[in-house]
Amino acid sequence: MVSRDYSEIITLSQRYLDMIAREELTGAEKDALVKETVEGFRDHVNPGFLEYRKSVSTDYTSVEWKDGGATFVDVYGKEFIDCLGGYGIYNVGHRHPKVLEAVINQLKRQALHSQELLDPLRALLAKLLAALTPGDLKYVFFTNSGTESVEGALKFARMATGRKSFIATTRAFHGKSLGSLTGTAKGVFRQPFLPLVPGFHHVPYGDAGAIEMMLESCALTGEPVAAVLLEPIQGEGGVIVPPDDYLPQVRELCDHYGALLILDEVQTGMGRTGKMFACEHVNVVPDILCLAKALGGGVMPIGAIVAREKIWDKLIDNPFLHTTTFGGNPVCCAAAIATINVLLEEKLPERAAESGKYLMGELRKVVSRYPAVVQELRGRGLMIGIEFQTNELGYEVAKGLFKYGVLVAGTLINAKSIRIEPPLTISREQMDQVVERLDKVLAEVDQMARAAGM
Ligand SMILES: *Cc1c(COP(=O)(O)O)cnc(C)c1O
Repeated sequence: MVSRDYSEIITLSQRYLDMIAREELTGAEKDALVKETVEGFRDHVNPGFLEYRKSVSTDYTSVEWKDGGATFVDVYGKEFIDCLGGYGIYNVGHRHPKVLEAVINQLKRQALHSQELLDPLRALLAKLLAALTPGDLKYVFFTNSGTESVEGALKFARMATGRKSFIATTRAFHGKSLGSLTGTAKGVFRQPFLPLVPGFHHVPYGDAGAIEMMLESCALTGEPVAAVLLEPIQGEGGVIVPPDDYLPQVRELCDHYGALLILDEVQTGMGRTGKMFACEHVNVVPDILCLAKALGGGVMPIGAIVAREKIWDKLIDNPFLHTTTFGGNPVCCAAAIATINVLLEEKLPERAAESGKYLMGELRKVVSRYPAVVQELRGRGLMIGIEFQTNELGYEVAKGLFKYGVLVAGTLINAKSIRIEPPLTISREQMDQVVERLDKVLAEVDQMARAAGM
């Protein structure tokens, strides 16, 4: 039997291991890295992603290489102020020293857990989250992503209520696994995968009356609602802030109809909106709170489902009813413990509120001068959305900002809105730079649109 020759795989992998071990790359290495990365995406990841990058940048081959504070740097040293914040993962900034230190220290002793003995960091992080989250939220199940947090929350809601129906909202985003995707509202993402989980009803976001009607209909038709699933502020939907009385009203309605309230704070949580959790703006305590994204401090992936005591009954009877191998592992817990410590010590939720007020004010001055391009500016804390008059204008603005070294992204729903979600640690100077660059871009796009008669 002829054995396969793996020497090329060994050489190639070793070359990259050597590169990531070094501070600096040579010019030739940089060129090779970019070429190989583009080819790798084209041939083995997804050529469609390259096409997408072309539509939102002036150089689709820009390859990221390092990050720190509120910036990303590409292989050639071009710096980007990160106004995308990894869709909400970099709340404490990129590679915060305290988070890095915790992870490295933990890695030196133990990376993953035995799966059998009691792991101390899981116990502590659960206790910290119970203390940090509002009201009587008590038990925590750890996951590896936001999607998994929502997926688990849906299962727990069925488990705790014995009911099968759910209410979600239009423009919602909750993830893309079959269950969480059922809660997600966008047709393009859902349609290829139908039929999804039965019993889901979508109603317009921000309208408590619509939720009441659906709760009532489901009760009358003998399919009572297990839970209402909501983002306190919709992220992917384009930073949609509901009326202040929305969540309190929904909370009351849920109690009246015996339905649970699941708040998906995967994006709004961990200080983003100017409070540690967005539901604290209106003093609403959910039955189940979904977290992820920024929980791992932008260093490790970790999510959590935090729930009231009664939700856990069946899970206590059988703790193996819902499990995950990697969820709550020691390295990720170390990152989350450090993240919570940093968020509180550096008062980052307060800082997000102040910076958000400042940035929003400055942005408002700029965008108000370009009514032909910008339709609306909205947000809370450092979760800000700019909606353009058309999709095309959104793409052009994203491209222009890329050119001037500001990273933003459209929403997964469309490019008509872009989100500004920088690290909560972003400095006043960096915010001023962002506003100045946006001003330049809007002027250019405004002129272009006029010339094209758009
Ligand atoms: C990003 C996001 C998710 C999905 O999280 P992943 O970590 O990408 O799986 C779910 N809900 C909301 C509100 C999100 O913003």
